[in-house]
Amino acid sequence: MKYYECHGHIALGSGTIEEKLLSLAKAGVIYFRDAGSADGLSNGNEAAMRSKELGIDFVTPVFALYKEGLYGKFLGKSFSDTKDFYKKVKEAKSLGADYIKVMYSGIASFKELGKLSCEPLLGKEIKEIVNICHGEGLAVMAHCNGVDTIKYAIEYGTDSIEHGIFIDNEGIKMLAASNGKTIWIPTLSAIANEVLALNHKQAITKAFKEGVVIGTGSDCGCSSVAIESGAITEFDLIQSCLTEAFFEDNSFSKEKAIDIIEANNKKVVATFRFR
Ligand SMILES: [Zn+2]
Repeated sequence: MKYYECHGHIALGSGTIEEKLLSLAKAGVIYFRDAGSADGLSNGNEAAMRSKELGIDFVTPVFALYKEGLYGKFLGKSFSDTKDFYKKVKEAKSLGADYIKVMYSGIASFKELGKLSCEPLLGKEIKEIVNICHGEGLAVMAHCNGVDTIKYAIEYGTDSIEHGIFIDNEGIKMLAASNGKTIWIPTLSAIANEVLALNHKQAITKAFKEGVVIGTGSDCGCSSVAIESGAITEFDLIQSCLTEAFFEDNSFSKEKAIDIIEANNKKVVATFRFR
């Protein structure tokens, strides 16, 4: 079995890049889409070179971008406004970024269920961010949680929503209507809170019923997900949501589920590459 890791942090957690890539290759991971680290530059380049020899297609944003004062410091560089954002996009591009990773929102609050850790970007900021990146030929991988922020992200053409915690039925319908223009990477492996994980599973199942393009990314390196097992765990979790979505369809087989997930992951591969 070949696995796709559509959301991982190669430079986070313990162990050298070399050790991690070797264990990924051993686990059957053929694609690794990095989600950033504060010192991503050297690590990203090193990983990209070595992964090719190991048969892993490694793609990277070099570093993630987050708005000054908001969530994301350990994942990359900050920007103060959209003008500064444009400058940082140019910088990432000159360093070989395959796409741009942007933090649109905070993470789910550990203190208060249903809340996020900080305020999100505004709709108009998201609109400008997507326009800037697309203008430079780069897709946008967005860390994005929260009912409204998810909707702005889809409305303005963000290429992928990472996590997507608190997505509601309208958000799912919007994702489906985007016809794969916005891909969802729910990172189910990374959600430790039982209530959140259950809600997220139900949303993923619903989204599969609606025909949303969902890829498998575990958030490995982060959130206590191990680098080498993340892709496999996430595949199993996503596959169980997909099987649940089609449980009334007697002709739906395990092979069919594997095919759907692979086709979705191949859309991620095709979208997140500089052109
Ligand atoms: Zn992540």
